[in-house]
Amino acid sequence: MPDNSSTPITVAHGDGIGPEIMAATLHVLKEAGARLDIETIEIGEKVYLGGVSTGIAPESWDSLRRTKVFLKAPITTPQGGGYKSLNVTVRKTLGLYANVRPCVSYHPFVRTKHPVMDIVIVRENEEDLYAGIEHRQTDQVYQCLKLISRPGCEKIVRYAFEYARRNNRKKVTCFTKDNIMKLTDGLFHKVFDEIATEYKDIENEHWIVDIGAAKMADTPEAFDVIVMPNLYGDILSDVAAQIAGSVGLAGSANIGETCTMFEAIHGSAPRRAGQNVANPSGLLHGAILMLVHIGQSDIAEKVHNAWLKTIEDGLHTYDIFKEGVSSEKVGTKEFADAVVARLGQGPTKLKVVKYGREDAGDLETGATKVSARAAAKKETVGVDVFLHWSGGTPEQLGEKLKAMNGDGLKLAMISNRGLAVWPGGVPETFCTDHWRCRFMSEQDGGAISHKQIISLLQRVADAGFDFIKTENLCTFDGQQGFSAGQGQ
Ligand code: NAD
Repeated sequence: MPDNSSTPITVAHGDGIGPEIMAATLHVLKEAGARLDIETIEIGEKVYLGGVSTGIAPESWDSLRRTKVFLKAPITTPQGGGYKSLNVTVRKTLGLYANVRPCVSYHPFVRTKHPVMDIVIVRENEEDLYAGIEHRQTDQVYQCLKLISRPGCEKIVRYAFEYARRNNRKKVTCFTKDNIMKLTDGLFHKVFDEIATEYKDIENEHWIVDIGAAKMADTPEAFDVIVMPNLYGDILSDVAAQIAGSVGLAGSANIGETCTMFEAIHGSAPRRAGQNVANPSGLLHGAILMLVHIGQSDIAEKVHNAWLKTIEDGLHTYDIFKEGVSSEKVGTKEFADAVVARLGQGPTKLKVVKYGREDAGDLETGATKVSARAAAKKETVGVDVFLHWSGGTPEQLGEKLKAMNGDGLKLAMISNRGLAVWPGGVPETFCTDHWRCRFMSEQDGGAISHKQIISLLQRVADAGFDFIKTENLCTFDGQQGFSAGQGQ
């Protein structure tokens, strides 16, 4: 049953072209009969420059937590240090774990090399290298931690399959680089394979991200829904939007367990601001995803089909205008008026859009189910001690560290930038000042204690070494939870 009550949403008009494209979007939504109860908040440049380093005032969170639905125009992040990315703050604070970006081509009305492209990128939004844990460790070496969790993988992969099922998609593809990152990306792939078995009606496949990305850029019609970890998703969702025709057309949904955010994928385009030239389509597509999410699929369908008809009729903003294809170059307001004039109509050449009503308003159901698992039996079997050292060759370091052996621990391997260089290194290998020195139990596979690690560190410190950090080497239910040195 359609729900005729209004849904409270929070709206931010943003910076640059933001206010113009938001006004155009809200005009279309209102005329289409969207049942919305709008709360407006201020975010972005003014808030940043007013001294709030996050770009969002504390009281704005109250609105977001009350409505749980955020329609957001792009903002400008002021140049210079100290300003935190508002997008990352909102995503992390509200737990928006899934970023969903449909990338569709509108051939022959919008120029593209890929006339039959219709893919959806589902990007994990909270983990991976975006945990923001970075350290400079030595003169020469910097580190960024890549964190991937099983619950994080389960949530995003299940979301991708649920999305596919709800939207009548036939296949979910997973991209990872698990031939190299066997533990982190390996977990993502493994969870993908496990969850895929629960969705027998949907085809599944895995590609190594490099060749998968090449294939997507060359033959996007081979893909349907693609799910991937944060970094690959960040890069490839922009590639996908661009090759579909224009980054000015795509919208995205950021989905959490309780809150959601919908936006255009482009930025605030400050040079185009205030001229009534910007294309409001990206934000309008974000708003369409929002309407489906809040259970107003009927309105979403009406707006989407009127938009397709407008594109088909050749009323184009400057960014997609092309002589011979477009019939008229229009401004932001005129474009919105053209969509409004076509409400109730649909495209005749492009595919008419239909949203499944029975599942509407239910976008995240099932997605957040995380399997209950008993804690594994964990045993520490060794420790990697990382050193800042530039005192000579790997052989010399090996000799010095062997003197630290004892108390049940012995030096097993030294690596530099992941490559094993002791024992048995070759003089051609370039070494930095950052060394990973692996100590294992004297008894093959035997367990060691925290105490043994502490006393080892004491010996290392007493010998005058600058240790940066340690990583415990553990097994989980007997399975090795650490990678070997390359070439070891
Ligand atoms: P941008 O996306 O704003 O602009 C890139 C190019 O695309 C420009 O040439 C612009 O003219 C064009 N363009 C973008 N959107 C358009 C539209 N709707 N219609 C017509 N043309 C459009 O990227 P940028 O220039 O790198 O960034 C500008 C500002 O936006 C920066 O402050 C950046 O931090 C911010 N930004 C915000 C978001 C966001 O709020 N989600 C995302 C990206 C960038």
